[in-house]
Amino acid sequence: MLTDSQNQALDRALADAKSGYVAANPLSQEQHRKAAKVLPGGNTRTVLFSEPFPITLVGGRGCKVTALDGQEYIDFLGDYSAGLYGHSDPVLRQALIGALDHGWVMGGHIRLEEELARLICDRFASIDLVRFTNSGTEANLFAISAARAISGKNKVVVFEGAYHGGVFMFGSKPSLLTAPFDFVKAPYNDVDGTHALLDAHGEKIGTVVVEPMQGSAGCIPADQAFLQMLREWTRTHGALLIFDEVMTSRLAPGGLQAVYGVEPDMTTLGKYVGGGLSFGAFGGSAEVMRRFDPLQPDALAHAGTFNNNVFTMAAGVAGLRDVYTASAALALSARGDELRHRLNTVAQEARFAMQFTGLGSMMNVHMCPGAVRSIRDLERSTKPLSDLFYFQALNSGVWLARRGMINLSLPIGDAECDRLVRAVEAFIESCNRIVAD
Ligand code: PMP
Repeated sequence: MLTDSQNQALDRALADAKSGYVAANPLSQEQHRKAAKVLPGGNTRTVLFSEPFPITLVGGRGCKVTALDGQEYIDFLGDYSAGLYGHSDPVLRQALIGALDHGWVMGGHIRLEEELARLICDRFASIDLVRFTNSGTEANLFAISAARAISGKNKVVVFEGAYHGGVFMFGSKPSLLTAPFDFVKAPYNDVDGTHALLDAHGEKIGTVVVEPMQGSAGCIPADQAFLQMLREWTRTHGALLIFDEVMTSRLAPGGLQAVYGVEPDMTTLGKYVGGGLSFGAFGGSAEVMRRFDPLQPDALAHAGTFNNNVFTMAAGVAGLRDVYTASAALALSARGDELRHRLNTVAQEARFAMQFTGLGSMMNVHMCPGAVRSIRDLERSTKPLSDLFYFQALNSGVWLARRGMINLSLPIGDAECDRLVRAVEAFIESCNRIVAD
């Protein structure tokens, strides 16, 4: 716990950091003013907004991004996990150039859609058949709607802190934009609490949706026993279990479900799987997904003008087939595990209440001590410290999410990881000075 005078010192340091940010980014500030005339708050993707104004980016190459005011940053955000391939990967670039020459608003079946679907079905054991969408949100919308239709039961169980898309936010603040399903919100990683809630709603539950590691909530991995309980309960009660692996499918060759050894009925995918272009997918067992077969008399229709768009299909195929192979996935996860271990060691040795949660190439910094197993544990976080870390990281040339999320991309190497470790060391030293003064 900080004393009042330490908190005041922290607030002053944060105010100084913000002034430095404003002074360093005049062109971004001007761009924001222009954008605010035509976009609400100058923004079209809320998560990218950062007060006092967001930095505008003008370029990306490998693992670096360049800002309008000229700064170059190491991209540790990796577009919230969609940017796994880094910027302008040569293999993806070639695939996109190849696609340019054969037309891109086909309005017909194309061969690439079968190739991408095959790569996905080969990779994820629980996916026999798959359908494409344009975003992870849309994938979840279809998966939940399908599970509801197939089970014939209305209630959909989601978890505190879950994020399944722009109309499926279940964080600490309720969202007025939540899609009007009959949701039941259960406590994440709480086997007994969730089991009791499942039993209370019993036969009315047709769908349970869960992230095997909550991403937006702050990279909070599920316990194996928790996922196993969900699997058993849904199986014995005629409900469908959906794993939202929009972010986590990158964490192992067969997705995080393969690591936990728990097979859902349906899985949703997104982000990097489309090579960094707009993408989403939902898939599952042949029994469930056959309902989308147009030859079936009771077929469920699934529309979407851009579902098989040429660019996403081409980049997705090149990415999964030639770049993010099983061995590349294992290597990236190992790099992430090692980096997270180093970062946590720095904080522990300094006895500083800062930790990096996550698995493999995805992690999130939290300014709190103790185990983080659900968003409830994050109530102990010191918010001004997170903000200060964000501004200081930018000053050290590290691009990350304002909320502290970090996702490694393939071009990130040892030198970049060392830079992040040094940035964390420098941050801890400066915080110790601030609160000691
Ligand atoms: N599910 C999860 C777990 C996500 O992290 C996200 C995006 N952050 C989505 C769904 C939604 O994906 P999209 O932004 O492509 O709609």
